[in-house]
Amino acid sequence: MTRKRRSHHALRPVNTTACPKCGTARLPHRACANCGYYTSKVSLKIETEES
Ligand SMILES: [Zn+2]
Repeated sequence: MTRKRRSHHALRPVNTTACPKCGTARLPHRACANCGYYTSKVSLKIETEES
């Protein structure tokens, strides 16, 4: 056998970056799922049940 046919079927490990605000691993160029932080200017408001 020469080259493996299914050599490209493996899933690539998802690379994550740590949220600079809360430290949770998040996808790059995605808002943090924990605190909603994206950049220093853009951040989502996470609805909390504290009120
Ligand atoms: Zn975060």
